[in-house]
Amino acid sequence: MLQSSLLDMRVYTSTEKRDVKKVPFLELFENRLQGIVSSGSDIERVYVSYFEVGSLDYCCSTNNNRPCGGLRGAPCGHLEALLSEAVIQFGFDAVGRFLRIDTTQVDSIHKILASAGNNTGLYAGEIFSRFLDDLELLELPSSDMPLTTMMWFNG
Ligand SMILES: [Zn+2]
Repeated sequence: MLQSSLLDMRVYTSTEKRDVKKVPFLELFENRLQGIVSSGSDIERVYVSYFEVGSLDYCCSTNNNRPCGGLRGAPCGHLEALLSEAVIQFGFDAVGRFLRIDTTQVDSIHKILASAGNNTGLYAGEIFSRFLDDLELLELPSSDMPLTTMMWFNG
């Protein structure tokens, strides 16, 4: 099952590959583009990042619900990575439609970031839970699921 979906991914993304090490999980879910972004400097840490549909308000925190140090009045590098990977996975137009952006005006990732809203300050730990659920779906039945899952942030 996993094998065949990996093969499919290769077919669909022959020119642009999703960087699943950098952004292991992302989705367009309810009113958010949301996902999990690996820390650039610390492999034991991941960030929970999202943009809200319409307002483009955003937030980024660690999986332990601590504020991201990169948020200084504008989206951080994690949010930029989330957006970039979403565009690779779904295409710019689909991401723009989902976020309700006028893609005739806002026609690049840079412009989306420039027109982002405000930091909501609301940490969305449930995104991390969804990511863990997703990981467990990929586990083999015989493996030790909790330990394997914990390796993502325990190193
Ligand atoms: Zn961040």
